[in-house]
Amino acid sequence: MLQTEIPEDTELGETPDAAAADVTATCSPAAPAGRRELFFQRCRWCGTPAYRRSFCRACGAMAFSRERSAGAGVVLRRNGHAHHNTWFVAMDEGFNLLCQVTGAAPFVVAVGARVTVVRVVAPSGQGVPVVELAEPVRPPERWW
Ligand SMILES: [Zn+2]
Repeated sequence: MLQTEIPEDTELGETPDAAAADVTATCSPAAPAGRRELFFQRCRWCGTPAYRRSFCRACGAMAFSRERSAGAGVVLRRNGHAHHNTWFVAMDEGFNLLCQVTGAAPFVVAVGARVTVVRVVAPSGQGVPVVELAEPVRPPERWW
Protein backbone atom coordinates (compact mmCIF):
# COMPACT_ATOMS: atom_id res chain seq x y z
CA MET A 1 0.00 0.00 0.00
CA LEU A 2 2.75 2.43 0.83
CA GLN A 3 4.51 1.70 -2.42
CA THR A 4 1.48 2.73 -4.43
CA GLU A 5 0.82 5.87 -2.43
CA ILE A 6 4.25 7.38 -2.87
CA PRO A 7 3.99 8.02 -6.64
CA GLU A 8 0.60 9.70 -6.16
CA ASP A 9 2.11 12.13 -3.67
CA THR A 10 4.90 13.02 -6.05
CA GLU A 11 2.43 13.60 -8.85
CA LEU A 12 0.42 15.95 -6.67
CA GLY A 13 3.62 17.68 -5.65
CA GLU A 14 4.29 18.71 -9.25
CA THR A 15 1.20 20.93 -9.24
CA PRO A 16 0.89 22.26 -5.69
CA ASP A 17 -1.25 25.25 -6.67
CA ALA A 18 -3.92 23.15 -8.36
CA ALA A 19 -4.04 20.65 -5.49
CA ALA A 20 -4.31 23.34 -2.82
CA ALA A 21 -7.01 25.20 -4.72
CA ASP A 22 -9.01 22.02 -5.17
CA VAL A 23 -8.86 21.17 -1.45
CA THR A 24 -9.99 24.61 -0.32
CA ALA A 25 -12.77 24.74 -2.86
CA THR A 26 -14.29 21.41 -1.86
CA CYS A 27 -13.72 21.28 1.91
CA SER A 28 -13.86 24.76 3.39
CA PRO A 29 -17.40 25.91 2.60
CA ALA A 30 -19.09 22.58 3.19
CA ALA A 31 -17.36 21.48 6.39
CA PRO A 32 -18.97 23.82 8.97
CA ALA A 33 -22.47 23.37 7.61
CA GLY A 34 -22.12 19.62 7.25
CA ARG A 35 -21.33 19.10 10.90
CA ARG A 36 -24.66 20.53 11.98
CA GLU A 37 -26.76 18.49 9.59
CA LEU A 38 -28.23 15.38 11.16
CA PHE A 39 -29.50 12.75 8.78
CA PHE A 40 -31.82 9.91 9.68
CA GLN A 41 -33.44 6.99 7.89
CA ARG A 42 -37.06 6.52 6.90
CA CYS A 43 -38.39 3.09 6.00
CA ARG A 44 -39.49 2.95 2.38
CA TRP A 45 -42.22 0.44 3.20
CA CYS A 46 -43.95 1.76 6.32
CA GLY A 47 -42.41 5.23 6.78
CA THR A 48 -41.09 4.60 10.29
CA PRO A 49 -38.14 6.89 11.09
CA ALA A 50 -34.95 5.33 12.43
CA TYR A 51 -31.39 6.29 13.25
CA ARG A 52 -28.39 4.12 12.32
CA ARG A 53 -30.37 0.90 11.94
CA SER A 54 -29.81 -1.90 9.50
CA PHE A 55 -33.48 -2.86 9.39
CA CYS A 56 -36.82 -1.28 10.26
CA ARG A 57 -37.93 -2.07 13.80
CA ALA A 58 -41.61 -1.88 12.76
CA CYS A 59 -41.75 -4.04 9.64
CA GLY A 60 -38.25 -5.49 9.30
CA ALA A 61 -37.59 -4.01 5.88
CA MET A 62 -34.01 -3.11 4.99
CA ALA A 63 -34.80 -0.36 2.45
CA PHE A 64 -34.34 3.12 3.87
CA SER A 65 -34.38 6.57 2.39
CA ARG A 66 -32.14 9.28 3.85
CA GLU A 67 -33.72 12.45 5.20
CA ARG A 68 -32.36 15.53 6.90
CA SER A 69 -33.47 16.27 10.44
CA ALA A 70 -34.31 19.76 11.64
CA GLY A 71 -32.01 19.05 14.58
CA ALA A 72 -34.46 19.72 17.40
CA GLY A 73 -35.74 17.32 20.03
CA VAL A 74 -36.71 16.64 23.64
CA VAL A 75 -34.63 14.97 26.35
CA LEU A 76 -36.10 11.59 27.33
CA ARG A 77 -33.83 10.08 29.96
CA ARG A 78 -30.24 9.91 31.11
CA ASN A 79 -27.87 7.23 29.85
CA GLY A 80 -24.96 5.97 31.91
CA HIS A 81 -23.05 7.96 34.49
CA ALA A 82 -24.01 11.53 35.18
CA HIS A 83 -20.63 13.04 34.38
CA HIS A 84 -20.78 11.73 30.81
CA ASN A 85 -23.88 13.88 30.31
CA THR A 86 -25.32 11.56 27.67
CA TRP A 87 -29.08 11.46 27.23
CA PHE A 88 -31.62 9.78 25.01
CA VAL A 89 -33.27 12.44 22.89
CA ALA A 90 -36.55 12.12 20.96
CA MET A 91 -36.19 14.14 17.79
CA ASP A 92 -39.16 15.96 16.31
CA GLU A 93 -39.12 13.65 13.28
CA GLY A 94 -39.96 10.68 15.51
CA PHE A 95 -36.67 8.83 16.03
CA ASN A 96 -34.67 8.51 19.24
CA LEU A 97 -30.93 8.70 19.56
CA LEU A 98 -28.22 8.97 22.18
CA CYS A 99 -26.74 12.46 22.49
CA GLN A 100 -24.13 14.22 24.58
CA VAL A 101 -25.30 17.49 26.10
CA THR A 102 -22.78 20.32 26.04
CA GLY A 103 -22.83 23.75 27.61
CA ALA A 104 -24.82 22.67 30.66
CA ALA A 105 -23.98 20.76 33.82
CA PRO A 106 -25.53 17.28 34.09
CA PHE A 107 -27.74 18.23 37.04
CA VAL A 108 -29.19 21.16 35.08
CA VAL A 109 -30.45 18.98 32.21
CA ALA A 110 -34.00 17.86 32.89
CA VAL A 111 -36.31 15.36 31.22
CA GLY A 112 -38.51 17.25 28.77
CA ALA A 113 -35.96 19.97 28.02
CA ARG A 114 -35.73 21.11 24.39
CA VAL A 115 -32.34 20.59 22.73
CA THR A 116 -30.80 21.40 19.36
CA VAL A 117 -27.98 19.62 17.58
CA VAL A 118 -24.63 21.41 17.65
CA ARG A 119 -22.41 18.76 16.10
CA VAL A 120 -23.39 15.51 14.48
CA VAL A 121 -20.27 13.72 15.76
CA ALA A 122 -18.53 14.41 19.05
CA PRO A 123 -15.02 15.88 18.70
CA SER A 124 -13.31 12.90 20.28
CA GLY A 125 -14.98 10.59 17.80
CA GLN A 126 -17.41 8.59 19.93
CA GLY A 127 -19.97 8.86 17.17
CA VAL A 128 -22.52 10.47 19.48
CA PRO A 129 -24.17 13.70 18.32
CA VAL A 130 -23.64 16.73 20.54
CA VAL A 131 -26.65 18.83 21.52
CA GLU A 132 -27.20 21.90 23.66
CA LEU A 133 -30.20 23.15 25.56
CA ALA A 134 -32.50 25.27 23.42
CA GLU A 135 -33.54 27.53 26.29
CA PRO A 136 -30.81 29.10 28.41
CA VAL A 137 -30.69 27.77 31.95
CA ARG A 138 -30.46 30.09 34.91
CA PRO A 139 -27.38 29.36 37.02
CA PRO A 140 -28.43 27.44 40.11
CA GLU A 141 -27.97 29.56 43.20
CA ARG A 142 -29.25 27.08 45.75
CA TRP A 143 -29.94 23.59 44.54
CA TRP A 144 -30.16 21.98 47.99
ZN1 LIG B 1 -40.76 -0.32 8.03
